[in-house]
Amino acid sequence: MSTPIQNRVLDIALNMLEQYTICDRCLGRQFAWLSTGTTNSERGHSLKLTLSMMADDELKSGNQEYGQKVLVLLAGHGLFAPAQAIAEKNMIEYDKGGECHLCYDGRRSVFDSISEISRRAAALVKGIEFDSFLVGTIPNPQLDEKQDELRAKYSLLHAEALKSDFSRELGKYLHEILNKEVEFERPHLVFIYDMVDDKVRLQINPVFIFGRYQKLVRGIPQSRWDCKACRGKGCKQCDGTGRLYPDSIAEYIGNVAQRLLKGSKFKFHAAGREDIDVLMLGEGRPFVVEVSEPRIRAPDLKSLMRTINKESRKRIKVKDLKITNREQSQKLKEDASTNIKEYLAIIKTESPVEKSELRRVEMELSGSEIEQRTPTRVSHRRSDLVRKKLIHEVRLKKLKDHNIEAFFKVQGGTYVKELISGDDGRTDPSIASKLGIACVCKKLDVTAVYSG
Ligand SMILES: [Zn+2]
Ligand SMILES: [Zn+2]
Repeated sequence: MSTPIQNRVLDIALNMLEQYTICDRCLGRQFAWLSTGTTNSERGHSLKLTLSMMADDELKSGNQEYGQKVLVLLAGHGLFAPAQAIAEKNMIEYDKGGECHLCYDGRRSVFDSISEISRRAAALVKGIEFDSFLVGTIPNPQLDEKQDELRAKYSLLHAEALKSDFSRELGKYLHEILNKEVEFERPHLVFIYDMVDDKVRLQINPVFIFGRYQKLVRGIPQSRWDCKACRGKGCKQCDGTGRLYPDSIAEYIGNVAQRLLKGSKFKFHAAGREDIDVLMLGEGRPFVVEVSEPRIRAPDLKSLMRTINKESRKRIKVKDLKITNREQSQKLKEDASTNIKEYLAIIKTESPVEKSELRRVEMELSGSEIEQRTPTRVSHRRSDLVRKKLIHEVRLKKLKDHNIEAFFKVQGGTYVKELISGDDGRTDPSIASKLGIACVCKKLDVTAVYSG
């Protein structure tokens, strides 16, 4: 059927109502991207009202039959009260429309339950600190299919999916109840409503805390290291602890962060790592600790810092703590192989070396590029490749007893112990190859990690 004045939107609306019972909101949703600053219910109501006025006009002045036909549709399939009133006044009979084709799930219109669902959702956030949230909906597949059919049948180019209409509406209710903002990019909480089993699930997004750590004592791995014999289960060799080392930097930081933020677990990300026997000095190494499902999101960072430093008994020290985000945490890891790091080493040489030799090696290595094949000692966790690394600066100072103090400024990811020893030719060139004698790294400290 088409309307007396040819109009695509009105014609489609009328044609859909000829076939199906459709409530205001679901009718309006088929034209959701037309005309902003209003609601789907208002769009549907306006369409029905326009059609109703046109029908009334026909009834009063012209085509009686046409006017009656449209009013019967609006009063019946349209569930439209103003049309029902006109129909009754004019003694026009119509069939009750039944339930909306698009939002009735067999028990009720899914939109009728929003207020009740929002109360259930709000009950889930007791004791959880947050400022923002987002709502997601897992749609009812039958309703989804009906919407898809309708979209294809009437070539609806401006229709919105039921689930996004539903999520937005639920979001409005929750905004009212919780007095918190809806946030799309980085919401603190996500409520997920599953239309199929009528359950609301709460997802608490992680908190990311940036900081820098110093490692002041040798013998601490960056992350927990499981006992090789039992792989963490606990055995005789490890006295049932399941571990090779009693502590780790990740645990000193992560355990306290998890506890203070009342989270469920933590992940530790750092801009590279130092060996167990290497100190991390200077301004410290940048890290991000990610706490899952935190009930506290705005911790007192000073107190967090003090607690970490106290509980690690000065074995490590953290500073510069601040709240960050997932993107920064990923960037930290990506930057780790390109940023610049500085080291201080004590090298023991096979035989005495002349000062002029040291000057020559400094000159030759500073500003050069070396090739490093993955050292065998780390091959269990890194793939066997040859990596090119920039050696920005080398400074060597002769000490007594065949010892050299060395300063290195190198590209992130350089294996400094191997840069010294040459690793049987796997690193080339090296201090050893340049001097032509065997060299070993006796002591190593990281003195600076530049981020960004
Ligand atoms: Zn509906
Ligand atoms: Zn064990």
